[in-house]
Amino acid sequence: MTVTALVGTQWGDEGKGKITDVLAAQADVVVRYQGGNNAGHTVVVGERTYKLHLIPSGILSPGTTCIIGNGVVVDPQVLCGEMESLRSAGISTANLYISERAHVIMPYHRVLDELEEAHRAVKIGTTARGIGPAYVDKYLRIGIRMLDLTNPQRLARLLEQALAFKNPLLQKVYGHPGFSKEELLGEYLEYGRILAPQITDTSLLLQKARQQGRKILLEGAQGTLLDIDHGTYPFVTSSNPTAGGAAPGAGLGPNQIDEVIGVVKAYTTRVGEGPFPTELTDATGDLIRERGREYGTTTGRPRRCGWFDAVMVRYAARVNGLTGLALTLLDVLDVLEEVKVCVAYDYRGQRLEHFPTDLDVLTDCRPIYATLPGWQRATGAARSREELPSKAQEYLDFIAEQVGCPIQIVSVGPRRDQTIFL
Ligand code: GDP
Repeated sequence: MTVTALVGTQWGDEGKGKITDVLAAQADVVVRYQGGNNAGHTVVVGERTYKLHLIPSGILSPGTTCIIGNGVVVDPQVLCGEMESLRSAGISTANLYISERAHVIMPYHRVLDELEEAHRAVKIGTTARGIGPAYVDKYLRIGIRMLDLTNPQRLARLLEQALAFKNPLLQKVYGHPGFSKEELLGEYLEYGRILAPQITDTSLLLQKARQQGRKILLEGAQGTLLDIDHGTYPFVTSSNPTAGGAAPGAGLGPNQIDEVIGVVKAYTTRVGEGPFPTELTDATGDLIRERGREYGTTTGRPRRCGWFDAVMVRYAARVNGLTGLALTLLDVLDVLEEVKVCVAYDYRGQRLEHFPTDLDVLTDCRPIYATLPGWQRATGAARSREELPSKAQEYLDFIAEQVGCPIQIVSVGPRRDQTIFL
């Protein structure tokens, strides 16, 4: 029996979708433990492409149990939509369970998300899906949970309580008309009716699965540098995608997680603003962007690209307690004459080995690089370490040594079979 947590080690978009898909095929249970429908997985199975934002991609493997844990915030409208589109493609959602403790994203959360972002002097780049405001209400103790959607009296009372906070805020600060309790009540009771068969105590399900020796995969969304505590605050998400968030977000004990695998790109990318020490604004950066198709999945926005930053991934190894790495997109670097790895930062003449908390310091950090020879051969067909060019093997060894963590999986292309287990 193994419980594996899978986390992103950079700024998200590390290729977690593919690694989750590969590992989910071997897992009996796949669990989302934080975030909401701000995750985005594109999974290609045969001729069809599936886009999932909330439901774990394990749903595509028949027989795999999928759990949306208590740490997730759930937009029932989006959830019902995803379930419907899966069913219309002939995929059963009978094995999908949602924690009764998961908090619900309401329409006022979505509206506030947009209005608050417009109000901010420094934009944090929210996806405006209501996720941050739903977490705010959870901690304000005025949240509505999945189990409340199946109890009309309680839902009415909780809506009244929440709207007593939200409507004056919407009306007086933002000039929005606000929301009517009756309309929300009708709509959300209907979601409760549709989802009732899937809403349960998922912690209990997980405990049973563990006792039966089943393989459990805890799937983190976003990435370490987007973590509310360990990320580049305030440009972060509103939950803990790091492995520490997996236990409370799934309803397990921390000592029940056996391994923590960090998904890492063979280089670095970042979306939107903020410091990025190894950014390449030259032809090499453009080449990586084109070869890696580094454009936002929903916005089409070009991602900023740069060399592998071992200072950052070392930090991710520390705050996640990584036991292994899954390195993706190695093939993107196939054509380069040389490759660089940032091994430390130069901050005003001082050598920094550790990732700084202060973003002003990070902004002033210059990368100190180690330069390695490129392999200039295609890696997409390699299925074992030995089939990789020796210089690509050297690159992997150098990264593992710098990060202080073994590489267990290497991905050399988007397809499931383009995966090497070391
Ligand atoms: P996620 O949010 O972490 O899942 O990352 P993305 O959705 O941005 O995934 C990155 C993209 O890269 C997807 O289109 C994948 O199909 C693709 N991809 C994943 N692994 C590899 C790889 O090893 N090589 C190449 N060339 N593409 C990959």
